[in-house]
Amino acid sequence: MKIHCLGTAGYHPNESRQTSCYYLPESGIALDAGSGIYRLPELLTGQSLDILLSHAHLDHTVGLTYLLDIIAIHPLEKIRIWGESAKLEAIREHLFHPLIFPVCPDASWNAIDDLDTFTIGETKVSWRRQQHPGGSVAYRLEWANGKRLVYSTDTTGDTSAESLNWCREVDLLMHECYFRNEAASWAEETGHSWTDRVAEIAALSHPKKLLLTHVNPLEHGANPVETELIQNRNKAETLIAEDGMEVSF
Ligand SMILES: [Zn+2]
Ligand SMILES: [Zn+2]
Repeated sequence: MKIHCLGTAGYHPNESRQTSCYYLPESGIALDAGSGIYRLPELLTGQSLDILLSHAHLDHTVGLTYLLDIIAIHPLEKIRIWGESAKLEAIREHLFHPLIFPVCPDASWNAIDDLDTFTIGETKVSWRRQQHPGGSVAYRLEWANGKRLVYSTDTTGDTSAESLNWCREVDLLMHECYFRNEAASWAEETGHSWTDRVAEIAALSHPKKLLLTHVNPLEHGANPVETELIQNRNKAETLIAEDGMEVSF
């Protein structure tokens, strides 16, 4: 399996990163729809696109207004957008308000609130609520070939036994790491993760591979969150997501 990193920044783009969007070509699934989604057409293969939204904040949804160009370049028969009902309503009411962006995409809007699990083609999806202003959800994707992925962004990082069990021993754990340790209290206040929190989650949940996402756009160096502190505490190969990166798992 592989996943393309189309946008790896949190909050706003910078010279090298767009905002959150990841694409699984074998499954036709995008994780979030930040500004990085404009890169999607060259990677699209099938006739359908399913977008799993973690929440409604603009760095994860602004790209929904780019879908007109995406389907102009690569026509799609079906677009399905998944998320919590309150978030989907907010997007349709505000992002697609006639005075903000006048054309709502021709898509089906699928609320996950009453679905513990659901399937998208061959992919089985489950989700969990996370701590973040307004709330966000993490997704767990499983395939018949045994591969498992957890996407957990915009969260302070859940160290409860229940959550750790839910994401235990996945092939790829995608976890946000917006802040360094020195900003841990600001991270908690703003509902984001920091180096030691992610290190703890990785050490206790044993992913085979760990991809750090939602990178602080004010960080321009190669090592924005002291990755070695995370790597030292777990056996998983630990990578910092970069735009254009393709990760196999
Ligand atoms: Zn975000
Ligand atoms: Zn957010």
